[in-house]
Amino acid sequence: MKLYSTKREAAEVTLKEAVFKGLPEDNGLYMLEQIPALPSSFFDKLPNLSFQEIAFEVANALIGRVVPADELKVIVEDAINFPAPAVKVEENLYSLELFHGPTLAFKDFGARFMSRLMGYFLSEGETLHILVATSGDTGSAVAQGFFNVPGIKVTILYPKGKVSHIQEQQLTTNGGNVEALEIDGTFDDCQRMVKQAFLDKELSEALNLSSANSINISRLIPQSFYYFNAYAQLKKEGKDKVVFCVPSGNFGNLCGGLIAHTMGLPVEKFVAATNDNHIVPTYLETGKFEPKPSVSTLSNAMDVGNPSNFPRMTELFGNSYESVTEHIVGKHYSDEEVKVVINEVQKATGYVMCPHTAIAYMGARDYLKESGSDAAGVFLSTAHPVKFHDIVSPIIGEEIDIPARLKEIVDREKQAVNLPADYEALKAHLMSVTV
Ligand SMILES: *Cc1c(COP(=O)(O)O)cnc(C)c1O
Repeated sequence: MKLYSTKREAAEVTLKEAVFKGLPEDNGLYMLEQIPALPSSFFDKLPNLSFQEIAFEVANALIGRVVPADELKVIVEDAINFPAPAVKVEENLYSLELFHGPTLAFKDFGARFMSRLMGYFLSEGETLHILVATSGDTGSAVAQGFFNVPGIKVTILYPKGKVSHIQEQQLTTNGGNVEALEIDGTFDDCQRMVKQAFLDKELSEALNLSSANSINISRLIPQSFYYFNAYAQLKKEGKDKVVFCVPSGNFGNLCGGLIAHTMGLPVEKFVAATNDNHIVPTYLETGKFEPKPSVSTLSNAMDVGNPSNFPRMTELFGNSYESVTEHIVGKHYSDEEVKVVINEVQKATGYVMCPHTAIAYMGARDYLKESGSDAAGVFLSTAHPVKFHDIVSPIIGEEIDIPARLKEIVDREKQAVNLPADYEALKAHLMSVTV
């Protein structure tokens, strides 16, 4: 089984190489050469399978030729050890809650699966240095996912003052093999610096660098599992027409859904919902993909001006714009709309959403209304509202209870190194730590 680059200049690699390299030399993105369709027998029994059983079957179809079934089963069951329920919020509108993992956000799926897959591939005595840019949730999930994994050091870059207090605590209080760098700049600056580090041969060889953000193929694989599981839950309720609305920044989560669709999951439509960083919704409307500097919004994990998974998104449709727009509809919403809808839904139903989830809710609701579709709308709830307590609590006029596993983190001491948004400063720091 080989992986190729979306730019098709770099050589094809094995899964192990793709997982450890993260990014091919030609600056494209690794893709699985084959994404097999699952047999109809799988879909027949789907409603009777547990989430872990579904996850194993999907993983086994994707990478079972590389990782033996018994090993893969251990990886899947260890990584996917929390549920992803589809909760009915209104008639025909379901919240797919992806926040029941350790950092209360969907990025736990990717980080936990990736860390265990890397652990499986790492040979005796080999060491690895993970370098990650985060707008908040990737970093905390990676910090938790890799904490104390032998042979792996983790460095996380985050934009100063642009992540929530709880996120910053989750990023900066681990110690041990996890280091946090506080960058004087935006998330796009952090991402640019990390990309440059991977293209810097001297550095990446000295450190044995590897990435862990949403460009790593091993994060996309588990992000397909919960789409199947959501479909299974709805099918049990007699619904087999589904629309998924995905609140998007780098579009890794949406690509997970597109992989599920490529494997045969019947999805009527994907709604790609963003905040005011609406590069992809604009592309879907006009055919023009024009990255821009990001703007800050309440849904800050989606403040991305140059969505890194975009080439994968189009690749999954053979780079045909017609095909992309046949399956994906774009929506985008302002902070004002987010505030209004969080309050409205809480007052009407008691259900409390984080700002990212609110955007997904509006996308699903509006798509169903405008298209007249009778499908079930499933909006992906990417974070627990308590992670955005300072935003959500004033909107609903109520406190949100902090789960015990977060309370403990809030009191720990912050440990972070402050650096300018400058690649040479990052390189000097990383080299000095290594020597
Ligand atoms: C990362 C994140 C997103 C965006 O996911 P992408 O895969 O980057 O599109 C949405 N919501 C939350 C809470 C996130 O942390």
